[in-house]
Amino acid sequence: MQFIETRGNDGSHAESVSFSNAILSPVASFGGIYSPEKTPLIDAEFLQQHQHSSYKTIALAIFELFAIDIDLPTMQSAVDLYDEFDDADNPVPVIKLKEDIYISELYHGPTRAFKDMALQPFGKLLSTLAQANQKEYLILAATSGDTGPAALDTFRNRDNIRVACLYPDGGTSDVQRLQMVTESADNLKVIGIKGNFDDAQAALKSLLASPSFNQALADKGVALSAANSVNFGRILFQIMYQFHSYLELVRQDAIELGDKVNLHIPSGNFGNALSAYYARQMGLPVERIYIASNANNVLTDWINTGRYDIASRSLVITNSPAMDILKSSNVERVLFDLFGAERTHTLMRQLDEQGYYQLDEGEIAQIQAIFSASFCSDKEGQTYIRSNYDNGYLMDPHTATCFKSCEMSEASGYVNIIYSTAEWTKFAPVIDAAITGHAGRGDLESLKSIAETANIEIPEMIRYLFDKPVCHPLIVEKGDIESEILAFLD
Ligand SMILES: *Cc1c(COP(=O)(O)O)cnc(C)c1O
Repeated sequence: MQFIETRGNDGSHAESVSFSNAILSPVASFGGIYSPEKTPLIDAEFLQQHQHSSYKTIALAIFELFAIDIDLPTMQSAVDLYDEFDDADNPVPVIKLKEDIYISELYHGPTRAFKDMALQPFGKLLSTLAQANQKEYLILAATSGDTGPAALDTFRNRDNIRVACLYPDGGTSDVQRLQMVTESADNLKVIGIKGNFDDAQAALKSLLASPSFNQALADKGVALSAANSVNFGRILFQIMYQFHSYLELVRQDAIELGDKVNLHIPSGNFGNALSAYYARQMGLPVERIYIASNANNVLTDWINTGRYDIASRSLVITNSPAMDILKSSNVERVLFDLFGAERTHTLMRQLDEQGYYQLDEGEIAQIQAIFSASFCSDKEGQTYIRSNYDNGYLMDPHTATCFKSCEMSEASGYVNIIYSTAEWTKFAPVIDAAITGHAGRGDLESLKSIAETANIEIPEMIRYLFDKPVCHPLIVEKGDIESEILAFLD
C-alpha cells in the first residue's frame, strides 16, 4: 500500500510514498496530507474469524490488511504497549450503560486520555524507523492539554527521538500541566508559552518555516518530524479499536454478527471520526457516524449544511477543551476520499484564503449518507454528567457531548457505541461542579471531592503527580522559543 497526496502532486514531491515516509515526513504537496491510495476491504469471514480474538490480534489483522512497509515483529512490539494499559487482556473495555447504549472506554492508558491509544504504539514505531534510518529526529508538539502528555510519555527515553513540547501557560488543567512538567527524561523538553493555545501553535508553525531554525537543525544533523493527529501513523492505530468495539458488542450479545451499529464520537481534529469512517469503508457494519461537538460547532454546520466556515466565528473556550478547535485537519481526508484530489485542493485553498468553503448538493448528500452531527452546550453537558452519575456512571465532559447525539439517534433502532475519550481525573473541576455543585475548585481539591462523593480511588499515576518534582519550570516569551530548543539539542 502506497500513500498519496490529498491536494494532488506539485511536481516536486514524490507521486506516492511508503507508509514509513508518510509518517516520518507528513507534509505533502500544496500543504496537503498523505492518505492511503485505496481503503482495504475486510472479507466476508473477517469478523467471524475475529469474534473471539484479543485486542492485539485484531490490531495486527487490521495492520496486515493495509499491507504497509513495516514488518510484523516491529508492529508486534508496537502493539505490545497495550499490555501496559489497565487490563492487558482488554485495553478498551466496552461497558453497557443501558439498553442500546454502550460506552467504549479509550482512556485506560498511561496518561488517561484517548491520545494514548494511538501515541503509545506510534512512539515505539517512529523510534524504530528513526533508528533504522540512523537519523536523529526532533518532534515539535504544541498542545492544548492531552496530546502533550501522551507524546512525552510515549517518546520518553526512546532512541533517535527528541521532543520539544509547547503548552500555553495557564491554558491547560493542573493535571495536564503536571503530566508534562514532571517528565524528567533527557530527550524531552517542555516549554510554557506566555499566550494561549493559538499562540503556541502559531509559534510552532513559524519555527517550522524559519530558515535559521531549519539551517541550525541541519547543521546538527537533526530532521524534523511530527506526531500531530494528521499523521497517518496515528490514524492507523485508531481504526483498530473501531473493530474491537464492534466485536465486543457481539461478544456481549448486544448485537448479532453483521448487525449495524451507530458510532458517537466527541470530535475535535476529526482523527477519531476519520478512523471510524475508514472502518466503515472497510466493511465494518456501521449505520451512521454521529459527530458530537461543543459550542465550537463548525463540524455540525459542515455536515448539516455543507458549509465549512471559520471566517464567521471565533474560538470559544468550553468545558471540553480538546474539542475547542475550528480547523479540523482530518476532514481533508474525507474530502479526498469522496471527491478526489483536485476538488480537495480547490476546497482547502478556499478555506485557507477565504476562511470558508461550500459543498454542492450532491456532495452534501454523500456526506450526510454517512455522518450526522449535533453540538452540546456546557450547560447541557453538565446535565448529562449529572444524570449519568446518578445512574452510576462517571464520565468526562468530552464524552458527555455524545449524549446529545444519542438523543438524535434514539429512533433509529440501532445499538449505539459512544466513545469515551478521557477519564474523569483529567477534567475533575468540571465534573466536581456537575455532581457536587461546587464550581471553581482546583484539580486536586476536585479530585478529592469526586473520589469522596463517588466513593472511588484517585488512580496512582494522577495522585503522584502532585508530589513529583517539576523539572521543566521554563515559561518564555514566544520570541525565545527557538533559542531554547536549539540549546536543548546541544
Ligand atoms: C483529542 C481529544 C478529542 C478529540 O479527538 P479528535 O480525534 O481530535 O477529533 C476528544 N476528547 C478528548 C478527551 C481528547 O483528548
